[in-house]
Amino acid sequence: MYEKIIKAATDFGCNFVENADMAKYTTFRIGGPAKLLVEPNSVDALSEILKACKAEGVKPIVLGNGSNVLVRDEGIDGVVIVMGEAFSKIEYAGNDLVKVQAGAKLVNLCRFALEYSLGGLEFAFGIPGTVGGAAFMNAGAYGGEMKDVVWVVNHMDMDGNRGSFQGDGLEFSYRHSAYVDSDLIITSVIFHLEQENPDAIKNKMDDVQRRRKAKQPLEYPSAGSTFKRPEGYFAAALIDECGMKGYTVGGAQVSEKHAGFVINVGVATSSDVLNLMSDVQKKVKEEKGVDLEPEVRII
Ligand SMILES: Cc1cc2nc3c(=O)[nH]c(=O)nc-3n(C[C@H](O)[C@H](O)[C@H](O)COP(=O)(O)OP(=O)(O)OC[C@H]3O[C@@H](n4cnc5c(N)ncnc54)[C@H](O)[C@@H]3O)c2cc1C
Repeated sequence: MYEKIIKAATDFGCNFVENADMAKYTTFRIGGPAKLLVEPNSVDALSEILKACKAEGVKPIVLGNGSNVLVRDEGIDGVVIVMGEAFSKIEYAGNDLVKVQAGAKLVNLCRFALEYSLGGLEFAFGIPGTVGGAAFMNAGAYGGEMKDVVWVVNHMDMDGNRGSFQGDGLEFSYRHSAYVDSDLIITSVIFHLEQENPDAIKNKMDDVQRRRKAKQPLEYPSAGSTFKRPEGYFAAALIDECGMKGYTVGGAQVSEKHAGFVINVGVATSSDVLNLMSDVQKKVKEEKGVDLEPEVRII
């Protein structure tokens, strides 16, 4: 099955896994197997893999670090393209610009920026995603978001053609970008940062990390905030006020430390998480009249 895709991956020396255990590719540590998982290692490899997908009649699902997704227990009857370690070059491009391949982890990008005395990305330190996933989601925290620092995003369509968006074309808004409703794959991002005193950058990064450790249940697998922030409210406060901290379904639990996080406290299944999310949504709607919309993307 998927021989053409496996051949393209092999020709370019890309890693691939058949019947890949998706629990290993998501920070929730949940999810059934994917028929085929491929990790492109260059833009040319990605282009050939996409052409092979087209020839096999399969539309691939793209993932970065899997830190904002919940894969269903049934798994994925198709192909997953992981933009990860093999696609993670970070380079200084002059004039305070940094060009980063989509699979680079935000944490590594933040450390690189610090090394070059470039400020602006400190808010992202500790978000466990890739640059591609962060640009896709317009990831943000502590008053900053990708929108503030992204200059250009390069992408590829499902036919292997290259393109890019910048400025208004990126359509950034709260946890949204032009990529959310498209089939485009982000291949690299150019960040425009600012010269800053490295001690000041380091202090901000340390501060953000301290606050994360104090507030978030980082000792358990999760996908971060389960629900988006509803207009005029905070999801975590609403859930807490409904008395749902610690509420458990199977191996899934509303974190006692941060009610906005659903955590995997044992061997949670995807169904456990989905049932728990549905119970939380129902209770918050009943008691507070507010609709909670998932931030986690269900695959
Ligand atoms: C402990 C914890 C803390 C978190 N804190 C924050 C936070 O403070 N702020 C925040 O915004 N988020 C937070 N998150 C959520 C998550 O880390 C971010 O949304 C992150 O940007 C997702 O990146 P990823 O590479 O893991 O994307 P994935 O989860 O792999 O994918 C997310 C979405 O992006 C798409 N995607 C990924 N890569 C690409 C690509 N190259 N091209 C096209 N589409 C792509 C996927 O198809 C999917 O729809 C947290 C998560 C955890 C587990």
